[in-house]
Amino acid sequence: MASKIKEPVITLSAGPVAAYPRVLRAMSRPVQYDFDPWFQQFYEDVTLKCAKALRTKDPALILQVEPAPGIEAAAASLISPNDTVLNLASGVYGKGFGYWSARYHKDMVEIEVPYNEAIDPGQVADAFRKRPDIKVVSLVHHDTPSGTINPAREIGTIVREHDGLLIVDAVSSFGGMDIHPDDCFADIFITGPGKCLGAAPGLTIMSVSDRAWKHIEANPKAPFASVLSLKDWKNAWSKEKPFPFTPSVAEINGLDGALDQYFDEGPENVWRRHALTARACRAGIKAMGLELWAKTESIASPTCTAVRVPAGVNDEEIIAAARAQFGVVLSSGRNDTKGKLIRIGHMGPVAEPIYATVALTALGGALRKLGRKVDVAAGIEAALQVIQG
Ligand SMILES: *Cc1c(COP(=O)(O)O)cnc(C)c1O
Repeated sequence: MASKIKEPVITLSAGPVAAYPRVLRAMSRPVQYDFDPWFQQFYEDVTLKCAKALRTKDPALILQVEPAPGIEAAAASLISPNDTVLNLASGVYGKGFGYWSARYHKDMVEIEVPYNEAIDPGQVADAFRKRPDIKVVSLVHHDTPSGTINPAREIGTIVREHDGLLIVDAVSSFGGMDIHPDDCFADIFITGPGKCLGAAPGLTIMSVSDRAWKHIEANPKAPFASVLSLKDWKNAWSKEKPFPFTPSVAEINGLDGALDQYFDEGPENVWRRHALTARACRAGIKAMGLELWAKTESIASPTCTAVRVPAGVNDEEIIAAARAQFGVVLSSGRNDTKGKLIRIGHMGPVAEPIYATVALTALGGALRKLGRKVDVAAGIEAALQVIQG
């Protein structure tokens, strides 16, 4: 039945994002039987395509769940009752990992910074000096509810020097910028199709290093025959091996379309348009007289721009006004950043510079509607300056 609520015109959320047309076409392919040799070969091909995108030697692991439970599965599988975990929290997702970790670890050390700042690699080195027993480190590369990027490579280098195992949540950065498991020495690298790859949500794409598999095999508490098990899916990529349960066939179809889109356009070109869109957006935000959430622009994400909510207005009112007047979907903060910022997503198909001007018009127009003085024209002009050079 049709909803009485009008559909959005343009979705500039922090994800999931409107999928590429190519993804939608792929999702309309036949739903094949998972035991049929055609599908088993297709599934193997998709895992190899994922590995090519991740630039890893081994086929990727695909879990048939959203990345949030995918990350929980990584925690459950990797963290043994003997492990001390170092949790790095520069935002809501980083903090959240610690709660999962608590179910499995022996002890946890946490480094938490204000949610408009990034983790300092020096703090990580200090933590290892004080606690040489740290075994597992968890890092969110792009903590989306803050729109900020952490220095994954620098942190990964330190973790590897201390023989630690690093989990990296790159759910909302992979595919939109230059980040891969080996770039940051990640032992478990987690992403998904519903953000920068511009496909439907519902799957987790993961790479697991040999060191991490060894640790999982040695973990007496690592789940099996469970939705939290990585072991169950370890060999599922191979057409010779059965699936532990039926994979999400239509979403695998869609992921295949998203990966074809990514390679046909060229990853570097995809990252470039994400970065340009974000840069144009940030220039426009500042020129309109608004404030970026990120403490320094160098840590502002190229896939999501967080804007501080001006004093005297409410985030929900702004989002509702942008939606009602322009049909444009923006995102609010989450948990600790809720009420403090508005997020403009630059992910997948909307990571195009023209959408920076759309976002500025919608956000500026909404604020104007709410009686705030914002110079929308100056914002658009500043964005155009960035786009046109
Ligand atoms: C979107 C996202 C996830 C996955 O969260 P879901 O609620 O499953 O969509 C995990 N980590 C980060 C950083 C994300 O942006």
